[in-house]
Amino acid sequence: MAEATQVALVVGGSRGIGRAIVERLAASGFDIWLTYRGNHAAAEEAKAAVESKGRSCRLLAFDVADRAATRTALEPLLQERCPDALVFNAGIARDNLLAFMRDEEWDDVLRTNLDGFFNVSKPVVFEMIRKKRGRIVVISSISGQLGQAGQMNYAASKAGLIGAARALAREVGRKNVFVNVVSPGVIDTEMTAEIPKEHVLPLIPLNRFGTSEEVAAVVDFLCSEPRMYVHGQVIGVNGGMAV
Ligand code: NDP
Repeated sequence: MAEATQVALVVGGSRGIGRAIVERLAASGFDIWLTYRGNHAAAEEAKAAVESKGRSCRLLAFDVADRAATRTALEPLLQERCPDALVFNAGIARDNLLAFMRDEEWDDVLRTNLDGFFNVSKPVVFEMIRKKRGRIVVISSISGQLGQAGQMNYAASKAGLIGAARALAREVGRKNVFVNVVSPGVIDTEMTAEIPKEHVLPLIPLNRFGTSEEVAAVVDFLCSEPRMYVHGQVIGVNGGMAV
């Protein structure tokens, strides 16, 4: 039997870009399964924002870098039903020049940003293939496309996500599962609060940082547009920083 309401699993949906994504998808009619790591207050605020749009929101706290915890958290949900959309937005940065980079700065970023996608997507994609329907959107970064000094760990993880998403797109397209990447430039969030604007703005043709809502608008299109022929693509939301 067809499910009445569509569900979007938004991984890392409690703050910043993820928060804007859950609000936007809720406005488009999705019920939300929102995951986060540990900021319960932010997650509760995001849940209230979703509910204010008349949609339901379930909260799940787990570390995507922890494979067993991720599987344990997702298993009961997936037994209930398969989400219609998966947005993998969780990500961290631990910037340092390679010469000074500590092992844990490399490990934490790769484990969270890249392994996290494997840990989440494997059980979800299995169900989407069975259902022959699904939308997957992976949040990468312009740093993964162009590279950025002081971000070898982060750039590697985000470039890895692009490779993973392209490979997955080739695997599952025939099963009516769409896979795309959204690659933000510099977006006004906590992650970029310390960036000196005077150094960065000259590199951005639109001459301003982007907003989380501008990223969310593209994610929403990729999750909900019924006339869909966009697949295996990397869509930049970067104000022209990479042209
Ligand atoms: P935030 O730090 O504001 O939010 C990150 C979200 O991911 C939170 O919900 C956080 O949960 C969750 N999260 C982080 N680590 C884990 C983990 N180990 N397990 C589970 N959940 C986790 O990030 P932004 O909104 O700035 O960025 C969102 C995404 O966009 C990231 O992937 C980032 O790399 C990417 N991006 C951001 C850009 C920017 O300019 N901000 C530019 C390009 C890409 P909790 O609240 O519990 O910590």
